[in-house]
Amino acid sequence: MLLLSACLAGVPCRMDGHAKPVPALLSLAVRGEAVLVCPEVLGGLPIPRVPSERCPDGRVMNAAGEDVTAAFVLGAQRALEICRARGCDCAVLKAKSPSCGKGLIYDGSFTRTLTQGDGVFAALLQREGIRVLTEEEAVCALEQRRA
Ligand code: SF4
Repeated sequence: MLLLSACLAGVPCRMDGHAKPVPALLSLAVRGEAVLVCPEVLGGLPIPRVPSERCPDGRVMNAAGEDVTAAFVLGAQRALEICRARGCDCAVLKAKSPSCGKGLIYDGSFTRTLTQGDGVFAALLQREGIRVLTEEEAVCALEQRRA
């Protein structure tokens, strides 16, 4: 079973109240082959919400200057519990998000500047031994499997 960022399966849980569906991943969810989680919503944050970015010191700040790290950590822990309970050993997470981003995230300056790093949830999953792919990596893997 695959763990999947809910917004990639069409759930309108992003900070702007929209989804970011990827058809191939949505199909997995429709077939019951993916478990959907949104760690930010699981952490108690609203939809829509003030944009947040992860800072170099690891904290997550929103554009209003509030430290929202605790909600991000709580949501990541709750999503990890779901991951464990459903037996997922691989996750496909939305790229560049302060929760779900893997390898590349916005740098905390709110200037659309990307830097190396992981979102809070992506980092937790990898520490726990769960394989994490971005949506682009997952779609490539699915296409290779079909070829
Ligand atoms: S926290 Fe993850 S699942 Fe939720 S909207 Fe952001 S990228 Fe999507």
